[in-house]
Amino acid sequence: MAEHDPYIVFGAPSIGEEEIAEVTACMRSGWLGTGPRVARFEEAFAAYRQAGADRVAAVNSCTAALHVSMVAAGLEPGAEVITTPLTFCATVNAIEHAGLRPVLADVDPHTQNIDPDAIKAAITPRTRAIVPVHFAGRPCAMDRIMAIACAHDLVVIEDCAHAIESTFRGQPAGSFGDFGCFSFYVTKNVVTGEGGMILGRDPARIARARMLALHGMSKDAWHRFGDAGYKHYQVLECGFKYNMMDLQAAIGLPQLARVEAHWLRRQAIWQRYDEAFADLPVGLPASPEADTRHGLHLYTVMIDEARCGIARDAFLDAMNASRIGTGVHYLSVPEHPYYQQRYGWLPERWPQAMRLGRQTVSLPLSPGLSDGDVERVIAAVRRILGAPAS
Ligand SMILES: *Cc1c(COP(=O)(O)O)cnc(C)c1O
Repeated sequence: MAEHDPYIVFGAPSIGEEEIAEVTACMRSGWLGTGPRVARFEEAFAAYRQAGADRVAAVNSCTAALHVSMVAAGLEPGAEVITTPLTFCATVNAIEHAGLRPVLADVDPHTQNIDPDAIKAAITPRTRAIVPVHFAGRPCAMDRIMAIACAHDLVVIEDCAHAIESTFRGQPAGSFGDFGCFSFYVTKNVVTGEGGMILGRDPARIARARMLALHGMSKDAWHRFGDAGYKHYQVLECGFKYNMMDLQAAIGLPQLARVEAHWLRRQAIWQRYDEAFADLPVGLPASPEADTRHGLHLYTVMIDEARCGIARDAFLDAMNASRIGTGVHYLSVPEHPYYQQRYGWLPERWPQAMRLGRQTVSLPLSPGLSDGDVERVIAAVRRILGAPAS
């Protein structure tokens, strides 16, 4: 019976002996803070995204990456920044923390990514930036978004929290705009516990972002206390405390080495879900666009009560009763009281994101799932929807 099955934790990271060994080695080295392992992690990440090491800066979260990028973009206070309502609150909060004003543009219901036509319609004389989110790992229409940005002289900061492996027409997500911001949070495709990375076009702006991420100091601790002897630093700006630790990079180094193996495992799970759910009345993820690579971060199904005979939240409860963890990515941003009060937003103004947010369910997709786990998820989904076992 279901209650004896182990609970399948949604988004559980796949941690191996390599991570444990590297963390142990870091602990034994006596250097836990920002130092040589962070530098190696930055180099490995830059190489993976086909960039030089002077175009990346590791930080302690994607939220920090977004915040620092917005500050480093040098926009005037109150400038408008267009983003998607179908994202994690961090995307919008970072805009506000940088003293800027978020403006939402609805998503394309097929791709669930920000709709370039909606971006155009949201542009005002005060618009200065666009923050596209590569939702679930599916790359946004970066050709159209960059064309709009060029025509209106807008900064582009890509939220790549789901998109470490994503490419659009062969070019890595995060390398189109001025900055790309990545997450290594525990549920993401590469894990450091908490962690993030900024990828940038311009090494000078990355250098500024790196400095802003460590109090605005001209030298980090490794360059003050490391093996080259003590060096003075100068505070050049009022920065933040957003640096990544070597202890975090120690988890990330072996994770990054397995990024492609993990992607292939998620692809196999994804294809199994696609085939097992093809006859169900649920909406399935759109197949990836030609000449793009999907990051395969979230497998989301749409539970429309009228078609499925069960409400989305009841479906979540039934999955939980089957001892399977699920997620919701995301209730649209204007569903939350803070944004309603602060900006007067109502979900109905962005109807596509509202509907998707009320119907969406993310199924387990961790590379650590066994084939048996995947079959358990499939059996539960089919049983809850009243479909015969596949
Ligand atoms: C996870 C996530 C973030 C925040 O990442 P952290 O590393 O946890 O700060 C931002 N945007 C999106 C779309 C996310 O999924």
